[in-house]
Amino acid sequence: MPVSTLPARNALDAVLARLRKAAADASRPQPPRLLAVGKRHPAEAIAALAAAGQRAFGENYVQEAAGKIEALAGLDLEWHLIGHLQSNKAKQAAALFDWVQTVDRMKLVDALSAHRPAARDALNVLVQVNIDDESSKHGCAPTEVPTLVAAIRAAPGLRLRGLMAIPAPHAEPSRRREAFARMRRLFDTVAGQDPAIDTLSMGMSDDLELAIAEGATMVRVGTALFGARLSR
Ligand SMILES: *Cc1c(COP(=O)(O)O)cnc(C)c1O
Repeated sequence: MPVSTLPARNALDAVLARLRKAAADASRPQPPRLLAVGKRHPAEAIAALAAAGQRAFGENYVQEAAGKIEALAGLDLEWHLIGHLQSNKAKQAAALFDWVQTVDRMKLVDALSAHRPAARDALNVLVQVNIDDESSKHGCAPTEVPTLVAAIRAAPGLRLRGLMAIPAPHAEPSRRREAFARMRRLFDTVAGQDPAIDTLSMGMSDDLELAIAEGATMVRVGTALFGARLSR
């Protein structure tokens, strides 16, 4: 029996309204793209959101994503990897995804480039930046961005689209906003090199307004669309 799409449609409408309002409040001409993060939600929940009109979906784990991508093939969805990528999974990721947002080291650039199937379009890539210098977080240091950017732009099979970050979850909005602003400055430097570099991925369910105020062009939203995640 098909899952009812009405709750999904209502949740999607509410999030899209938040994006429009945040963009208007920031005097931005258009809202950012919405990436729906379906980790630890079943393929049926993603199908319901797709039926409501959402096209781009983010997943954190290659193995979990593989099952969903296979189950939902035919819906013509766009799949983004947003979780840490181990080098030994790079080959599988290069074949499965349309975007990898978590490229943070040279080894991954080489592996993704080597394994992107020739029959597919270039893999869209974002450099993940550890903007708050947290030892617990993946992502490259801001100082490493130019080297990675140059390598990705030179790599066959990859298309550099921009930067991604997960700032530290400071309770004070001003500190989160300050991290988003630092990302924006880094992004402006990189984007000045190439008009294809059009994506600054930052902001989640709790802080997407702050991220949009600082120039996010893509926000990654899980809980506000799908509800609480199942524990794993
Ligand atoms: C889970 C996750 C999100 C979505 O988080 P919510 O708070 O549920 O919106 C966004 N980005 C990344 C990298 C995530 O792992």
